[in-house]
Amino acid sequence: MISNEELAEFLFPDVKETIDDLENRYPVRTLPEGAQVTRFAPSPTGFLHTGSLFTALISYTVAKQSKGVYFFRLEDTDTKRTIEGSGDLLVDQLEQFGIIADEGFVRGENIGNYGPYRQSDRKMIYRTVIKELVRRGRAYPDFCTPEDLDAIRKAHEASKVLPGYYGVYARDRNLSNDERVARINNGTPYVIRFYSNGDHDRKTKFTDAIRGEIELQDNDTDVVILKSDGLPTYHFAHVCDDHFMRTTMITRGEEWIPSTPIHLDMFRALGWKAPKYAHLPSIMKLDHGNKRKLSKRKDVEAAVSYFLDAGYPTEALKTYLMSIANSSFEEWAMANKTFEIARFPFSIKKMSLEGALFDIDKLNYFSKEIIARMPIDDELKMVDAWAKAHEESTAKRIDADPAYFKKILNIEKDRKTPRKDYAKFSDIYPLVKFFFEDEYDQMLKAGFSFKEGLPKEEVAALLKDIKGALPFGVEENVWFDALKAVGVAHGFAANNKDYKANPEAYKGSVSDVAEILRVALVGSPISPNLHEVIEILGKDVVNARLDKVIATL
Ligand code: GLU
Repeated sequence: MISNEELAEFLFPDVKETIDDLENRYPVRTLPEGAQVTRFAPSPTGFLHTGSLFTALISYTVAKQSKGVYFFRLEDTDTKRTIEGSGDLLVDQLEQFGIIADEGFVRGENIGNYGPYRQSDRKMIYRTVIKELVRRGRAYPDFCTPEDLDAIRKAHEASKVLPGYYGVYARDRNLSNDERVARINNGTPYVIRFYSNGDHDRKTKFTDAIRGEIELQDNDTDVVILKSDGLPTYHFAHVCDDHFMRTTMITRGEEWIPSTPIHLDMFRALGWKAPKYAHLPSIMKLDHGNKRKLSKRKDVEAAVSYFLDAGYPTEALKTYLMSIANSSFEEWAMANKTFEIARFPFSIKKMSLEGALFDIDKLNYFSKEIIARMPIDDELKMVDAWAKAHEESTAKRIDADPAYFKKILNIEKDRKTPRKDYAKFSDIYPLVKFFFEDEYDQMLKAGFSFKEGLPKEEVAALLKDIKGALPFGVEENVWFDALKAVGVAHGFAANNKDYKANPEAYKGSVSDVAEILRVALVGSPISPNLHEVIEILGKDVVNARLDKVIATL
């Protein structure tokens, strides 16, 4: 009769260390009271998903606000789904959002004392733990082929019982160790399964850091812990990793709630205290009136790169996500006159639970506020960096004359309530292109439309006089008085009140005069503050433009 000890040795002859050795190598961290150790543990399967950024942001915030540790672990055990290089891409994108790991697998390097931080480099740790489980009779080799598993599934269906590899359906859990060794010696392929002592007629309870007490059916399935390719499954790997990396709070997506009993079953079997779980809500989207999860396949906004490409400042997306996380954020931001999320006292307990609806209008609102409040030099730098990567034509405009572009961005900015035109950097150029002569000429070619009912000749005469009378380099009110005087001389009312009182007596009011000038200089009745625009264009350009327009009338 082969003992469990002998079976363990037979299966893992290469494993010389014990769990105690690992406990000593990865000691419990000495951290201040209340400090949380959190992690973001993505699989390298593609781009950074908006939901993953949300998870990472919450993990990071919990760690930072509690003066704890935030680490990045790459969960690359599903080799079929792994996309080469995507681990580094995830790190790069997170860093653009200022989510910089204290420890982790970062661009090929392990930073920190609790590594390695890439699961495929932790095989010996998993093997060490599984060897111990085999010794204790809590793990065993299973020889089922895919066809065998299919037959078991069919048996469940026929007897209408819960699916799972448990009880009588756990075909190989009671094989003798002699049989196991004989089959392995025959070359029969196998996986290793966890031996559960659970009972699905009983309940498992745990306290979720966000949701409070959760009660679920106990786990009794003997889940696979080591696959035939020698790599562990997520269920088992995260239990080992979060134990030896000394995680105190596991922040992960709510899709993991149903498998939490499996994880707790393993923590119990190993005699380890489970960290706290915090299951985050998914980000939802309204689709034809129905709420559904943001989908990688269907929704552009599921990929963080969509926002980066469009030129949303990373701070804006982060701020928006924080407002989803804690509904009190917006009120706090208003009261404190800042959107700086690092200062917001985030509370995991007060996390909003209903899957937050992705709301682009809300994101645009935060983004406009944030861009408007950015110091001008920072804004120019960010716009330039974004343009260099995403909008070459704009990058060239900036390069040609950075000071000019800066003046354009600075219009109505340096004031108590700054102008909020831009939600993303790609909004800028279309709104300011009239500042560039070649663009202006194109627009003029396509034709400008002035005040309806006013004969062309009168528009021309008005513009001619404005050209002669407009002062430059003066305060706005002085400039406006000059404009008004020309208007009055041409039969326009000096103000709206006079005009409304007696519309028949005038061609319009001074605001119509300003609009005519605006259309003449920028091609549209809508633009930022006209006086500022005129000062930036300068006398020569303004006069040249007026001549060009008059020539078309
Ligand atoms: N690799 C898992 C995922 O991407 C991580 C879940 C967790 O954070 O534990 O969903």
